[in-house]
Amino acid sequence: MSLPSPATPAELSARAERGLLDRLGATATVVGWAPGRVNLIGEHTDYNGGLVLPVALPHATAAAAVRRDDDRVRLSSAQAGDTWSGTVDDLAPGRVTGWASYAGGVLWALREAGFDVPGLDLHVHGTVPLGAGLSSSASIECSVAFAVLGLLGVEPDLATRRAVVDACIKAETEVAGAPTGGMDQTISVFAEAGTALLIDFTAHAHQTVQLALDDRRVLVTDTRVSHELTDGGYGTRRQDCEEAARALGVATLRDATLDDVTRLTDERVARRARHVVTETARVPLAVEALASADWSRLGELFAASHASMRDDFEISTPELDLAVATAVASGADAARMTGGGFGGSIVAIVPSTQVDRVVAALDDAFADAGLKAPAHLLADPSGGAVILP
Ligand code: ADP
Ligand code: MG
Repeated sequence: MSLPSPATPAELSARAERGLLDRLGATATVVGWAPGRVNLIGEHTDYNGGLVLPVALPHATAAAAVRRDDDRVRLSSAQAGDTWSGTVDDLAPGRVTGWASYAGGVLWALREAGFDVPGLDLHVHGTVPLGAGLSSSASIECSVAFAVLGLLGVEPDLATRRAVVDACIKAETEVAGAPTGGMDQTISVFAEAGTALLIDFTAHAHQTVQLALDDRRVLVTDTRVSHELTDGGYGTRRQDCEEAARALGVATLRDATLDDVTRLTDERVARRARHVVTETARVPLAVEALASADWSRLGELFAASHASMRDDFEISTPELDLAVATAVASGADAARMTGGGFGGSIVAIVPSTQVDRVVAALDDAFADAGLKAPAHLLADPSGGAVILP
């Protein structure tokens, strides 16, 4: 296989520790590690009380930290030039901006949740591509939270991990100013290696799902077309869904049927609702196909999901459509766009023997179309966040 493997947790941890020393002159006593994710199916269903099915990436963020004797906080990143510096009390919405709003936001939200966050020096190093729809944001947030647990000597038991998920959601929503449904933080914390996580946003529950991948790999291709969830596309989709639920008299579209959707009078709102209802129905079917290695069935489900996002939800782009069509034509069993949309990545299930061929076909198709070369990674499902000594 020609694609480079991601750094192991130990390698990434060493890079973060070295960065802490180089940038802030401090020696780490603890490192938090947390993965990015790719959603296999279930898009824009989270805030509609529906189902999602992400896997954690081997690509992750490591946050190296050390407690200080005073109340100062310094935050730096290998992926950002600027260092944030202030006091623990300065950590608040509106007072930490840019990339540091993700790391500083978590420190603030953990404090709000009752954790005794001390003065500290912290440096992150991430291998999740930023803004590719693979949740570098949850990866940095959860790595920082686990570093803090390490500094405080708090065991990441079930209750603590739930508190971390909530704090990271709160940080992203209220400090970074990017609305998030919570899928990303949940998978980053609760992932188990080799499996996917089925999350139910009505039951507020999640369960591990076995994958019969064996001779298959999960290939992710980033179109490298920039997307900004704060641009408004996400917000207007969400409003349409809320309007549909209101018109149908249901709490969320999870409680609506396809029959209900035909009663919606606004054509656009009806299409948005149809995507959510059909997409949620596809998730358990995909779980069955993935568990029983029924790749042709999975191919149909991914194709229907992609078409629904393209035509009903209108969140695809020509680059995503090209990538999906090319992947399927060159040997993938299944392919669809993944993430919030308006750019970002596709996810494909590919026979191990065909990965090189599919990657080459995608590179050629993008070159022929005069597009920037896409970036590929293999998403062998990894485990969730940990504290490294
Ligand atoms: P995604 O989560 O799909 O990668 P987002 O827009 O939600 O995209 O989050 C990306 C943002 O998260 C970046 O622009 C940056 O502010 C922040 N971020 C993520 N990882 C890092 C990192 N390693 N260093 C600094 N900032 C990061
Ligand atoms: Mg994100």
